[in-house]
Amino acid sequence: MKFTELGLSAEIQRAVAAQGYDTPTPIQAQAIPVVLAGRDLMACAQTGTGKTAGFTLPILQLLSGGRAKPKRPRVLVLTPTRELAQQVEKAVQTYGKALRWLNTACLVGGAPMFAQIKQLQRQCDVVVATPGRLLDHLNRRKIKLSDVEVLILDEADRMLDMGFAEDIDAIVA
Ligand code: AMP
Repeated sequence: MKFTELGLSAEIQRAVAAQGYDTPTPIQAQAIPVVLAGRDLMACAQTGTGKTAGFTLPILQLLSGGRAKPKRPRVLVLTPTRELAQQVEKAVQTYGKALRWLNTACLVGGAPMFAQIKQLQRQCDVVVATPGRLLDHLNRRKIKLSDVEVLILDEADRMLDMGFAEDIDAIVA
């Protein structure tokens, strides 16, 4: 299978090709059509098998029609660690280069609150966050999640192992 067969727009395909990839990995070939169809998905694959692009590419495709409402995130990605959040945000920016209006925010612990609050004051379409810091912003009413259309729990098993279950429940609520 080729990326051209997955129903991704030409501009997203170009961003993938610019990274040197023309063949989707198995997790991508299986996950991308399901996400594009708007269905819930639980997927499992080892690190290094292209999971990040597996959810990033179809989400960018779903967003590519443009902004619906101003000032509210439409995609929320939760990750267990700051490093993973930063990697995911970078992937969204890399593959989403052609969506010139696309803004992202990375809300992680160990980084200054103030800079993150400033980021949230402009429209952030995709928010990548660790659960604790996101709850902090929610409690301070610095972010609203009422327009989130897609929720990704990246490395969900690790988040549960790290004791984030309650935080995730609160965020989902
Ligand atoms: P991940 O499993 O998301 O951590 O991705 C591992 C690495 O695979 C990253 O460096 C990606 O850039 C790379 N990658 C993602 N998709 C593909 C693909 N279709 N073919 C080859 N490498 C890929």
